[in-house]
Amino acid sequence: MNMADIAPVAALELATPLAPPQDRGGPAQPLLTVRNLRKHFAVRGGLFERKPRFVRAVDGVSFTVAKGETLGIVGESGCGKSTTAKLIARLISPDSGELVFDGDGVGQYGGMALKEFRRNMQMVFQDSFASLNPRLTALEAIAYGPQIHGVLKAEALARSRALLERVGLAPAQFGSRYPHELSGGQRQRVNLARALAFEPRMLILDESVAALDKSVQAQVLNLLQELKAERGLTYLFISHDLHVVHYIADRVVVMYLGEIVESGPVDELYAQPRHPYTRALLSAVPSTDPTRRTLVAPIAGDPPNPINPPSGCRFRDRCPKAMSVCAAEPPALRETTPGHWAACHLENVEGIAA
Ligand code: SF4
Repeated sequence: MNMADIAPVAALELATPLAPPQDRGGPAQPLLTVRNLRKHFAVRGGLFERKPRFVRAVDGVSFTVAKGETLGIVGESGCGKSTTAKLIARLISPDSGELVFDGDGVGQYGGMALKEFRRNMQMVFQDSFASLNPRLTALEAIAYGPQIHGVLKAEALARSRALLERVGLAPAQFGSRYPHELSGGQRQRVNLARALAFEPRMLILDESVAALDKSVQAQVLNLLQELKAERGLTYLFISHDLHVVHYIADRVVVMYLGEIVESGPVDELYAQPRHPYTRALLSAVPSTDPTRRTLVAPIAGDPPNPINPPSGCRFRDRCPKAMSVCAAEPPALRETTPGHWAACHLENVEGIAA
């Protein structure tokens, strides 16, 4: 790339900007509504097995994300959180369920409407290296998306330069570097700038800081907070790290084996978890604060086979409080306190004991 193509940041004026974000339904309307989303993946067994069996990766998941909110999704590996993210971004199609983005059903999107939806809903993945084209420099990678959306090359490069600077990488030093010439933290900053170049309304951050060192992780998290405030962004933040989710999220959804078992405001849910699985997850998080240490045993065993989950409550084989009703009936999500939901039969019996 000829660096002379790149306009100075001070002169940045975009003659052909991407469409500005439109807030059609007002602040009260959720930006994203997910209703009863399902995705089962067929797996073939042996040679003589005629019928495919199905992994119930996502099994009836519903939630909303308000405008400007950060919703965290937590759970063990295989709980369905990343599949949920890919379904929302329309990288894979659901078997059933509904997605509504700012009042519009996403299921009907095709052609230009789908392209516009994808522009508004950008994803940043965990693997910063695999997310970048090894043959594009940092500046070219960031400019690529706007060019696809019709922004002229010189303008796209000018925007790319400004974004690179905004995410903390000096364009003169890092702009002409290829992915293998950047550290993990620097690559993830480039990925973030690349997503922002589309001027999205929502970012899905799927384990986006999981591979970074703690100090770099903190820098990227602070950058995310700043960018959110500056640009009015909405985040869906997916992580197995409960510390990180507590730091960044406003509300949190806990998933287990393809289902939501608890959701609520992050401070309340961390202080007073209602579901035994959430309690076990939280008790497994190391704390330096002796007053926050708990005697509850961390979660035991591995999650059951998602091809053949237990009847009733899917957590019952690992739950220290399981009762006979837990095998017979799946517990429904109930609102325990305003905005705080849990799916556990104990809520009917006694409230969940500490
Ligand atoms: Fe445990 Fe039963 Fe509650 Fe499931 S429904 S979490 S098995 S007590």
